[in-house]
This record gives sequence, structure tokens and C-alpha cells, in this order.
Amino acid sequence: MEPELAEREGKRKEVEGRPVVRIAEIADFAGREVAIEGWLYNRRSSGRLAFLLLRDGTGVLQCLLARDRLGEKAFAEAEAVPQEASLTAWGTVRADSRAPGGFELSLAGFTVHQGEPDYPITRKEHGPEFLLDHRHLWIRTPRQAAILRIRSQAEWAFQEFLNERGFVRVDGPILTPNAVEGTTTLFRADYFGEPAYLTQSSQLYAEAAAMALGRVYAFGPTFRAEKSKTRRHLVEFWMLEPEVAYATHEDVMRLAEELVAYAVARVLARCEPELRTLGRDLAPLRRVVPPFPVVSYDEAVELVRRSGLEMEWGDDFGAPQETAVATAFDRPVFVERYPAKAKAFYMQPDPARPEVVLCADLLAPEGYGEIVGGSQRIHDLDLLRERIAQFGLPEEAFRWYLDLRRWGSVPHSGFGLGLERFLAWICGLRHIRETIPFPRLLNRLTP
Ligand code: ATP
Ligand code: MG
Repeated sequence: MEPELAEREGKRKEVEGRPVVRIAEIADFAGREVAIEGWLYNRRSSGRLAFLLLRDGTGVLQCLLARDRLGEKAFAEAEAVPQEASLTAWGTVRADSRAPGGFELSLAGFTVHQGEPDYPITRKEHGPEFLLDHRHLWIRTPRQAAILRIRSQAEWAFQEFLNERGFVRVDGPILTPNAVEGTTTLFRADYFGEPAYLTQSSQLYAEAAAMALGRVYAFGPTFRAEKSKTRRHLVEFWMLEPEVAYATHEDVMRLAEELVAYAVARVLARCEPELRTLGRDLAPLRRVVPPFPVVSYDEAVELVRRSGLEMEWGDDFGAPQETAVATAFDRPVFVERYPAKAKAFYMQPDPARPEVVLCADLLAPEGYGEIVGGSQRIHDLDLLRERIAQFGLPEEAFRWYLDLRRWGSVPHSGFGLGLERFLAWICGLRHIRETIPFPRLLNRLTP
């Protein structure tokens, strides 16, 4: 673990004359006296000895208390510390192969800051609704904390990749005047008496920014009133949306595969302990190396039908169909050139076959479904107006967007990557709800 700046300069905080260290760096302090600032994760005792399991957000450390060393009174106090009480503990770090993590703290003293009995989340099994009701506490458990750490690293990796390639981050607004991805999933707000909607995608704004800065990306929360209960849909999720001027459909497919492979490699490099906490099989993640296979929509429909599922040409893939396609490959697979009627109005038709559009979805392996949706955008003014009319959309609402096709229009392409879809796959989670700190679901707005 990287020491903080103050620590690198030798100004580490001290408690009772001992340096305060984080559990993740405990191995560097073997044999030394240290202090830990944390919370009581769990406890067990056996008459003469007690073990306090302390967590500090970076790991869990076993603290050993000996009755004869600590004295009767302190020992009794230690045995009474309630679960999740906040405390500072100090003692000597010892290597011990029996301790989880290989080190333990031989306790010399401790101070309890605050705690109460009856912590709601106990060692027994709790149902998902109970845990979601207590999400503010649930995130303290090692599994949930591991997911949040991986999320943070993935966000960093995505931005690192794009920033290193000269992309400029330009975020779209959250409050918007019109729909991007269909009107059925719009969230309405009251904008001083006028209707407004929470953003479904920053794409249209990213297109404007790409014409200003060349290579851009937006990264922010996205809202869709998804009215069906699925394991893959959140009502509020985060989307990373790169958009590149003068780029073709093929160019951004390459960009997407490099971005995904880079982020997976970074998470493997930086979060292996967290992935192990989650019990994630790392072998399939290590195979996530470009080039990713590409199949056409037509070929994908064939794969679906051969797996025994029904599908009409022209339909979008549902979750079982996506799984049928993805399981034919050992790494993420692109499905490209969908029927125009299955996709959004702004996608560029394939010049060789105008009934399909120059788009690609990236399907994750192991049945995790679509993680990226991208396309080349229509750059011709007349064609774009025609499409807006065909889709029954009000041209007035897209006036500013059409301006981009009047002054310096060029072919350009981009995609949207759903952060939580990516994480559900990387973490190997059955349900997407654990990938975001405070999920918003069909029936859930709290905590
Ligand atoms: P789906 O068909 O799975 O609903 P979509 O076609 O609506 O996805 P896009 O509009 O292409 O998705 O959005 C781009 C990306 O955003 C998707 O590839 C996915 O990763 C993510 N995404 C879309 N909707 C949701 C949602 N409700 N919850 C979480 N992520 C989502
Ligand atoms: Mg959708």
C-alpha cells in the first residue's frame, strides 16, 4: 500500500507513542509496536485468551489479549466491547501463521470510542431485503468493502486509460430537456414549471464536446426508470461515454476492447486480495486480452437459434439470448451491425446494407450480458432529420444537436460502458445491486 504523503515525510500520526498504521501495511511493521484505528469486526474468547478481530477499512487483523498481561479489569472490558464499536488498539505486531493474514497484534491496551450492543448485522444469514435496508452498515462487511474497493480501482483505471490517450473529460448535464434512449424509461422532474428529465445518457453532449476537443469522455450517473425487475438493471447507474471525432465504428471497437482489457488487468494487478475475498475465479479474467471476437448480428441470431432459443430477425437480445451468444466464446465478444429498427435513431446505416447500422455491443463472458453499447453516429444533416422523423421524435428538441451537422460535421463514433455491469462481471456477482454503494431499484430509494 502507498503510504500517504505525510507518512512518506515521516509525519505519521501517533497514539500512545506508537505509529498509527493501516492493517494492509501491517507486514512492514513486524516486531514493532503500533496502533490501529478501527472497529470491532468480531470477537471470541477462551477464559485466559481473547481474540478481537479489528477492521480498519483496509483489512481485518486479529488482536490477541492475554488475561495475565492485560489485567483482570482490562480483560473484562475487552470481552464486553460490542460488535462494530469504534476503538483504537495498540500493541506489538507478530508474525503468526495461524492468524488470518499471517500477522497478529499482541495487545497492550485499547480505547473504545463509541459502541452499543445489538448491531443489526450478525454472523447469521440475512435475506437480501434486510441487507439492502441496512446498506449503510452492510458496506462494512469484508465482501461489500472489497466490491467498493474494486469499483474505485476500476473507475481510476478507466480514467487513467483515457487520460493517457489524450481524452478530455467533459461531463453532460444531469437535468436535460429531452430523451436520448427512448421515452419509456424517463424520469421526470419539475424545472420551474417546465418538464425536465434526469439524463439517460450524456452521448449527445459528448458528441458536441468531441467536435470541440476531438477525443472526450463523459463519466457520471445515468437514470433510467427501468420498470422490470432484472439482475442487470439499476435505476441509477454510472456510465463512461467516450466519443471520438473522425473515428469510425471499427476505431471505437478497438478502443472499447483496449479499455476493457486495460481495466481488467489493472483490477487484477491492484485488487487480487479483494477478488479472492469475493471467491472470484481469476482464470477467465486473465483471458481478457484483445483482440475480442466479433460476430455480426445475423451470426449471433444463428448462435441463439442453435442453442435452442427462439428469436426473430430484428429483435434485440434478451438476457438468455445474450448468454447463448457469449458462452460460445472464452472472452468478451462484440455483436455488430444490428437491424436499424432495434437501435437508437442516431446510428449510421451500413452503406453496404442500409437495414443494419454501424453499431456494436460488447457481451461479457460467463453470462454477465451487455457491458458496452456503441456506434458510429449519423453525420449527415438530412439523414439525421429523416431518422428523427421516422422515430416520431420532435425535431425542435434536437435543434442544437442538428447544429453539430451544420458546422463542421465529420464521421464520429463512441460508446457507453456501464460501470456496474462491468463490476458485476469482474466481481462475479449474481446481482448488479451490490456493485453500487447505495442502489436505486424498482422498489428501493432508501437508504
Ligand atoms: P439493456 O439492453 O441491457 O437494457 P441498453 O441497450 O439499454 O442495455 P445502452 O443504452 O446501450 O444499454 O447503454 C449503454 C450501457 O449502459 C449498457 O451496455 C450497459 O452496460 C449500461 N446500462 C444500460 N442500462 C442499464 C441499467 N438500467 N443499469 C445498469 N447499467 C445499464
Ligand atoms: Mg435498456
